[in-house]
Amino acid sequence: MTDFPTIARYAVIGNPIAHSRSPDIHQLFAAQTQRTLEYDKILAEPDEFSTVMPAFFEQGGLGLNVTVPFKQEAYVLSQILSARAAAAGAVNTLWLQNGLLHGCNTDGIGLVRDLNRLDAQLDGAQVLLVGAGGAARGVLQPLLEAGCAHIHIVNRTERRAHELREGWLSALADHGLPSTHFDEHALSAGSLLSAGTGSWDIVINATASSLQGQAPELPPDIYRPDSLAYDMVYGPEDTPFMRVARIHGAARCADGLGMLIEQAAESFYLWHGLRPDTQATLETMRATWSAART
Ligand code: NAP
Repeated sequence: MTDFPTIARYAVIGNPIAHSRSPDIHQLFAAQTQRTLEYDKILAEPDEFSTVMPAFFEQGGLGLNVTVPFKQEAYVLSQILSARAAAAGAVNTLWLQNGLLHGCNTDGIGLVRDLNRLDAQLDGAQVLLVGAGGAARGVLQPLLEAGCAHIHIVNRTERRAHELREGWLSALADHGLPSTHFDEHALSAGSLLSAGTGSWDIVINATASSLQGQAPELPPDIYRPDSLAYDMVYGPEDTPFMRVARIHGAARCADGLGMLIEQAAESFYLWHGLRPDTQATLETMRATWSAART
């Protein structure tokens, strides 16, 4: 007979994984909602996801977050996909229900909720989305559903920006997903330089550039007087993208810690049916960083 753990067990799987803040966030949520749970980090080798992930559930694990580089594989292995996951082509939240592996993607809703927290006006917004990887793809549907009028995708490798636009539009059709809230002209793509053909209410950096200490090479005159510059990367200091955006005239800048917490809160809701206090969690995380610097 298999011995299952008596404590509810959750985890995040990725490679690398040591930097992940998800265990801290889920333990803060658990404390707020008076639940006891274990939330671990699982490091898997690139070719191990398809064995480590099922083993986690076979050993009694209840929910798994998935991060780089396994989100696409999690999508392929999910037996039931949510509409969000189907549109994103990637899964960051897994759980078993009636013996079937369910997959959802909470990154996009996490971004939209954080933009709402920041009072960004999404309805009718002109959005510049920098990057053409999984993170950029995952936020297209939620941003358009939130009413953004136009999203221009730009990328260092321009070809990938066009591939993202076309691939995403055909995936919507393949999955029979609703596209009544926008038409395909709401989405355009081009090079980083093509960002200069317009000015933008919200500029979202969905690249990994800040992790390399760099900002994407965008033209300087892309910000409107009240623009928000948002970097999905986060940390105790302003990111390189935020610093450059300020110099280029962005009125407000934010990092992606709020998105991280909001996507975690949506996973928590899927697993526990409870909505934690994300604002309190954000304040606690920032305070912990500040204390560590003094
Ligand atoms: P990915 O699939 O590896 O895509 C990387 C993207 O970054 C590509 O578009 C790449 O452009 C671009 N890039 C990398 N270095 C660059 C540089 N120095 N200058 C300009 N562009 C550069 O990664 P991803 O999964 O989309 O994730 C992107 C970032 O979002 C990561 O840093 C991740 O941590 C962050 N993220 C945050 C959250 C959150 O909750 N806050 C959630 C998801 C992701 P090329 O195509 O030209 O290589």
